[in-house]
Amino acid sequence: MRVLSVASECVPLIKTGGLADVVGALPAALASQKIEMRVMIPAYKGILESLVGAEEVWADWNLYGEHARLMKGEVAGMTVLALDAPHLYHRAGGPYADASGDYWDNPERFAALSWAAAAVARDGTGEGWKPDILHAHDWQAGLAPAYLRYHGNGGVKSVLTVHNIAFQGVTGGDRLNSLRLPWHAWNPEHAEYHGNLSTLKVGLATADAITTVSPTYAEELMRPEFGMGLEGVIAARANDLTGILNGVDEATWSPENDPEISPYSARNLKPKAENRARLIEEFGLGDVPGPLAVVVSRLTWQKGIDLLADALPAFVAAGGGLVLLGSGEPHLETAMKAAAERWPERVGVRIGYDEALSHRMFAGGDAVLVPSRFEPCGLTQMYGLKYGTVPVVAATGGLNDTVIGASPASLSANAATGISFHPVDGIALAGALRQLLHLYQDRGTWTRLVKRAMKADVSWDGPAAAYHALYRSLLA
Ligand code: ADP
Repeated sequence: MRVLSVASECVPLIKTGGLADVVGALPAALASQKIEMRVMIPAYKGILESLVGAEEVWADWNLYGEHARLMKGEVAGMTVLALDAPHLYHRAGGPYADASGDYWDNPERFAALSWAAAAVARDGTGEGWKPDILHAHDWQAGLAPAYLRYHGNGGVKSVLTVHNIAFQGVTGGDRLNSLRLPWHAWNPEHAEYHGNLSTLKVGLATADAITTVSPTYAEELMRPEFGMGLEGVIAARANDLTGILNGVDEATWSPENDPEISPYSARNLKPKAENRARLIEEFGLGDVPGPLAVVVSRLTWQKGIDLLADALPAFVAAGGGLVLLGSGEPHLETAMKAAAERWPERVGVRIGYDEALSHRMFAGGDAVLVPSRFEPCGLTQMYGLKYGTVPVVAATGGLNDTVIGASPASLSANAATGISFHPVDGIALAGALRQLLHLYQDRGTWTRLVKRAMKADVSWDGPAAAYHALYRSLLA
């Protein structure tokens, strides 16, 4: 089976969030199911230079005013199709924005990606590679299923995965033509969205199947609190919606085999204490008698960082420590920096993005905090499980599906893999941090919890089989 995966980001080439991790991990995960997946992304500045053996496999003489071509090359064992269109993708800033904000032509930039993907799916590349399935990710690729629906699909089925419903690709309705959508797409069942146009919505309406990245988030998306305006469209397609968890790329994330740390395993946890001591030193903290919590996150409202700032004083006073790595909303960065200034012995904060440091944090921490208000799947709680860094999570979305919260019953059955709280507010988070302090004091229970967490299956095996089953059902 052949699948064309279409997205705006893919590890190791370009990443701003978890989407890139998932898109980059899927080809290897699905290879075990005998699926040949190629990944199509825009050739942002520098991407072509990272591809080995790049050659042209498709071209369009007028993609938004200029010539565009598709370059096929290899990176990290996967075949990438990079859409080379410098007029659209060579920008000074990031993939979506620069210092002055979002690029004005983002709708067209990603319509071009979707257009090329649909064309390749329909007709194949120059060398005769044609997929059975087009798998689109998020709003940036939302128009690809729509183009297959409106302009002919050449026998190809489409899947759209929602990684985060907060990003909907909303733009003015006057762009209908520019985005190459037909007039009959302009209705509230398809592209029209409160007078505007949403590329995610039209993708949701036209894809043959919809997936999202956890079973709980799939349920949540049909409710107004989580659907963010698209709950009706999604509920109307409930029969075509599946929640499939993400997995962890175990080549990159394994405490037994991580060049950034002193390696350890559930059988030999001693080096984890060395990693803890080194992390405390790296952040310049003093003695931390209680649990050392880590946070690696975008600093946004979604991630509940404001709740954390409120709950921190009691946690620190009780002996807990915190090291945080992230960047995002200025007021949250300020709040966290203020906490580090107030408790320099117990709280350390790095504003920025640092992959290597994040590994040292997952290895050295006792617990990883993920107090998200909503979390489609979440990756950091799964890294926490793998590294025996007990996840403390809000019971929402994928956090709910990956962590079994400690309770007297789950602890006695040795089923608990973390701490889970609900509702997502400051009071419940404070309660979860008290539970963390308490469990950490009981060394026997704590060690059992750590070891049980490390046994949790966060591999891609289950998810890959679920995608395979979905693709097969579409082709049947
Ligand atoms: P989201 O995609 O909503 O940001 P996820 O938990 O799904 O959240 O994925 C976030 C990914 O980005 C994880 O791999 C996490 O480790 C990584 N990450 C987030 N912030 C940073 C940072 N400041 N430095 C290094 N890695 C980060």
